[in-house]
Amino acid sequence: MYYNSTRDNGISKTASQVITQGISVEGGLFVPNEFPEISKKDILNLTNKTYVERAEYVLSLFLNDFDDVEIRYCAENAYTNEKFGCDEITPISKLFDDTYMLELWHGPTCAFKDMALQILPYLLTFSAKKTVDNKKIVILVATSGDTGKAALEGFKDVEGTQVMVFYPENGVSSMQKRQMTTQEGKNVSVCAVKGNFDDAQTGVKTIFTNEDVKEKLLKNNMMFSSANSINWGRLLPQIIYYVSSYCDLIKTKQITMGEKINIVVPTGNFGNILAGYYAKKMGVPINKLICASNQNNVLTDFIKTGKYNRVRDFYTTISPSMDILISSNLERLLYDLTNKNDEKIKTWFNSLNENGSYEIDGETKEKLQQEFFAGFCSDEETSKTIKEVFEKTNYICDTHTAVAVKVYEDYKSKTNDITKTIIVSTASPYKFTDSVLKSISVSIPQDDYEQVENLNSITKLEVPKQLSELKNKQIRFDTVIDKKDMIKYVFDLLELDK
Ligand SMILES: *Cc1c(COP(=O)(O)O)cnc(C)c1O
Repeated sequence: MYYNSTRDNGISKTASQVITQGISVEGGLFVPNEFPEISKKDILNLTNKTYVERAEYVLSLFLNDFDDVEIRYCAENAYTNEKFGCDEITPISKLFDDTYMLELWHGPTCAFKDMALQILPYLLTFSAKKTVDNKKIVILVATSGDTGKAALEGFKDVEGTQVMVFYPENGVSSMQKRQMTTQEGKNVSVCAVKGNFDDAQTGVKTIFTNEDVKEKLLKNNMMFSSANSINWGRLLPQIIYYVSSYCDLIKTKQITMGEKINIVVPTGNFGNILAGYYAKKMGVPINKLICASNQNNVLTDFIKTGKYNRVRDFYTTISPSMDILISSNLERLLYDLTNKNDEKIKTWFNSLNENGSYEIDGETKEKLQQEFFAGFCSDEETSKTIKEVFEKTNYICDTHTAVAVKVYEDYKSKTNDITKTIIVSTASPYKFTDSVLKSISVSIPQDDYEQVENLNSITKLEVPKQLSELKNKQIRFDTVIDKKDMIKYVFDLLELDK
């Protein structure tokens, strides 16, 4: 096995090379040249294993230049009871008959980003040792809220790395902001940018691809890498929980071996749902992949029409981690659906860059629609769903997960499909206390922690310790900058002269 670029099939790299590099030189994303198969027998074998053992198995299929001892070290250190608060790591709870919640938010930062960002530092450290000896790795992150905190937690005090996070000044929830600005660790920094997520993202990309900057870093024995889901090291660990959740449903006798299930994913950058598609491709019995969006419904339109158009209004919603108009990982999916047609991918994504849009061919569109169903909902519907689910089942979901629940309900009434279904639950409701509380209650206190107490007394859901502890933590980072000053900020921190 080796890795190609979606924009150049001639490129061939090892796992450790693609994990350190993040993105290919010509702008393509790295993808494995083949997908190993997981048979029913393999799934059966994994059923009685722990999450760590399942992780080791899946990782070993892809990390072609890691040995077993290294892989075990990564998995054992990332997925601990201490960090995830339970042995299952990704517990499943039953929402309704035949509908399950896969809770991916029991990690240190209370969102699913931990599933990848707890292991990425280990993968990256081993990869760097194999490929770029002794260079300091500088990780730049643009975040709409959850990736930033998860990257900070994952990389804090990891030797040989430095992390800088940029978030939109007014584009994250109050709890997300508090999580980031109080971050501990000697190799981290956090900075607010005046503008929205796309501004922060564009700023980071500009720094990333600037040749002068790159050269200057190299001279000082440093290099950039990425903790965003363009990095294969972010995507790969996400395949694990799709395999693992199927094993869990078998183990608890909710399904029989080989029975197909649907997967519903609240989607932004298309990373999480793509990992589900890869799991299906490898042999996990999955029927439909249901792509749920908020008011920023560029993916819904794309899956319905085959036309991707990012030239549209950007909405700030109550599910901010899905407020994205450029879904990077779609590139990997289209590469696969076109049987690795790197020329087509290049044409489409150049067009996205230059005109803000592209249109795929009829055959690819047909394949896309066979695999995926897409839908979206408004903030109002999201709130209403939180309330209805809570009243019906006593289950309280966050604003992102609620989007998935609503789109799944729409899917069911449209198709009458009664296939058993996993809804991917991506964040703890306490990360978005304000919006969640507003959905189920009328009196909303101003103070963050009074809100948390209120939500707790209504729902009885335990408050994650990692969030309640923030109350007494010192704010360490209060810098706010213009987007044009991001490059200066990076240079100052790295003590490089501009
Ligand atoms: C990042 C995020 C999403 C979107 O995931 P993608 O992989 O970008 O599609 C959904 N919900 C939450 C809570 C997130 O943090």
